[in-house]
Order: sequence, then C-alpha cells, then structure tokens
Amino acid sequence: MQQKITVLFIEDEANILTFVSKILKSQNYRVLTAQTGTAGLQLIRSQCPDLILLDLGLPDMDGQAIIQEVRQWTSCPIIVISARSNEGEKVKALDSGADDYITKPFGTSELLARIRTSLRHSNRLNTDSDIYIRPYHCHDLTLDFEKRLITIGDTPIHLTPVEYKIVAFLARNSGKVMTYTSIMENVWGPYADTDNKILRVNMANIRRKLEANPAQPEYIFTEIGVGYRFAEDTTESMI
Ligand code: CA
Repeated sequence: MQQKITVLFIEDEANILTFVSKILKSQNYRVLTAQTGTAGLQLIRSQCPDLILLDLGLPDMDGQAIIQEVRQWTSCPIIVISARSNEGEKVKALDSGADDYITKPFGTSELLARIRTSLRHSNRLNTDSDIYIRPYHCHDLTLDFEKRLITIGDTPIHLTPVEYKIVAFLARNSGKVMTYTSIMENVWGPYADTDNKILRVNMANIRRKLEANPAQPEYIFTEIGVGYRFAEDTTESMI
C-alpha cells in the first residue's frame, strides 16, 4: 500500500480547518490538525509530518516562533498562510525558513499547487542531487546548468554573469517565491547591499531578454514587496 503523505495544518479558525482538511483528504493526503501553536509543535515532534501548513496568527503564539523552532531541527516544508496582505510578515516568514506562503482567501487549486511544489522541492533535497544538473524546462525556455546555457526555442540567450546567476538561482527554486534578500545573498554574497535597486535593474534586463512581453510574463513573476517566483519546471510535474 502506498504510504500517504502527511500534512499538518495549524490554524485556529475551525471552519477553515474543516474545509481545507476535507480538500486534502479528498486528494489522498493524511491530515493532522492543531488549533494552537503548542498543539502544533507537539504534533510536529511526535508525528514528523511531510509538510506543514501554518497560519501565522495563532491564539497562543506567533507563527514566526514556530518556524524558527522547527527550523532548528527539520527541513520539513512549511507553507505559511497569512490573512493579511502584509508583505513584511511574509518576507520575515520566508527568511526564517518558510518555503512559501499563500494569502487568505485562497483558491483550492492554488493551495494544492503550492503543496505539490513544496513537496517536490523537499523530495529533491532529500533524495538526489542530480536534479540540479538536469536542465530546467518551461514553455520554450531551457536552462542547461552544466553548459550554463539558456535557450528560448533554438535561440541562445546572452546573459551577463550576474544575470545568469540570478536566473539559475530562480530556476533551481522554480515554483517558489524567493525573497529579495535570499536572491541578493545568493548572487552577491552575505555582504550584499541591503538596497535591492541593483537586483531590480538586473531583473528588468533579464525580463527584456527572456519575456516576449515583460508586462505579461511567462517565466518570472513579481511578488510585490516580497520577491520573485520563476515558473515551475514543467519537466518535474511530469515525474
Ligand atoms: Ca488565525
């Protein structure tokens, strides 16, 4: 029998908890629920879920404290559910180690897509490293990490070394939002300028090279006030 994937949902609003649990069970996930941070932490320690859905506004503790606690000992993916369109809160959660976020109210298909993406990323980290070497594909774009070559259709795209670093980092983390800080640190190192102007300038150039219509991007999506999300690698969704 196939082992079910266990999702822990920590959320104090009973109606959302019930609704989302039903959806996840219908998709064949095993679902654990907790309505307080304390109960959630106990379940994380005792049940080792495969993925955690975490509401940040809990009655007994701030969800940010749970992320920090959990990240001390496990890389289990965490998707934060944020009621507020508070960018600062999302950035803080991501930089503390959350894998992604979703804003209330959210659609079922969006939630399920985020869960699948996060699980794929955690499988990749746990099971193999070859996947980093396998090229990234989406629509007409291919990025060959070994050759450091980007093509759209048959046309090679010329990027500067910094532009390539940014695109390769986003492509390795495709489907996930990457914060400005995480991109800056990856590309320019830990002493990166805290002003993200240089990143925005590079992104504008990258978009002109990659996107047929930068106003309606196919590959690089802006998460306003948070960072950027590269389109999910379509090779992976076929595995
Ligand atoms: Ca709440």
